[in-house]
Amino acid sequence: MTSPMIKIGIPGAAGRMGRMLIREIAAAPDLELVAATDRSESEALGQDSGLLAGTGTNGVLISDNPETLAGADVLIDFTSPAASIAHAGIAAGQGCAMVVGTTGLSGDDEAALAAAAQSVPLVYCANTSVGVTLLAKLVEQVAAQLVEGWDIEILEAHHHHKVDAPSGTALALGEAAARGRGVRLDNVSDMVRQGQTGARRDGDIGFAVLRGGDVTGEHSVIFFGDSERVEISHKATDRAIFARGALRAARFAASAKAGFYDMNDVLSG
Ligand code: NAD
Repeated sequence: MTSPMIKIGIPGAAGRMGRMLIREIAAAPDLELVAATDRSESEALGQDSGLLAGTGTNGVLISDNPETLAGADVLIDFTSPAASIAHAGIAAGQGCAMVVGTTGLSGDDEAALAAAAQSVPLVYCANTSVGVTLLAKLVEQVAAQLVEGWDIEILEAHHHHKVDAPSGTALALGEAAARGRGVRLDNVSDMVRQGQTGARRDGDIGFAVLRGGDVTGEHSVIFFGDSERVEISHKATDRAIFARGALRAARFAASAKAGFYDMNDVLSG
């Protein structure tokens, strides 16, 4: 007997990630797009979401009514922090599982997602690529080994449309390094350097940000030692990797129990 199709709802369907997700869903035999929304101000409202994504007509028109998402088994949300929180409320109220890939969430926003995850399965991950998930594990291990005399710096580059900095992935890599060192990132992060900064503090984890062109996403964690340097890097060349990872997370969420998950749970699930 064949398994039933998993019904997917995409808020932010007119966005860069929304359109990429719709393309990947069209190519997935086990997934069916049932709802696509965007903001009331979006010029894409009323358009066929498949045509907009470049896959041909799919009959799912882009709506500004978030209630249309309630018919989905899983919502995949790459929008904005405020929108993701609103959609998590809908998912929790309607019993839909959810994948949140939006970055730039505050601690309060994350607490709101965790609250929704008490009633539905919710995967939250600032980077849904398999490669970056493994990179974070490596960073944690290396940071635990390279302690005395080693300085950790995180460098990231993204396209010029990106609105938050450092990237959610850079912060997640910083968290991984801090975990490896047994410290809290809040206590050791150095995000901004300008003017008379004084010497670098031992144990700090520094961040540097580049923005320009069409860079999909590049991250390096650099361990500076005395006369040597270890660099661990990931370069994304196509956004499809994030969409494919998000679909993997959606399949996981569709059959998971209520709870708050990340990509490590998805890869080991
Ligand atoms: P984008 O601006 O191209 O798309 C966002 C879309 O969401 C827009 O179409 C916008 O109109 C829509 N939107 C905003 N509020 C909405 C609402 N209330 N209801 C419905 N739609 C709404 O941005 P993007 O490049 O697609 O990125 C979106 C988010 O995903 C960002 O936070 C980005 O950093 C993040 N991102 C995460 C990953 C990952 O691996 N987790 C990868 C890429 C991007």
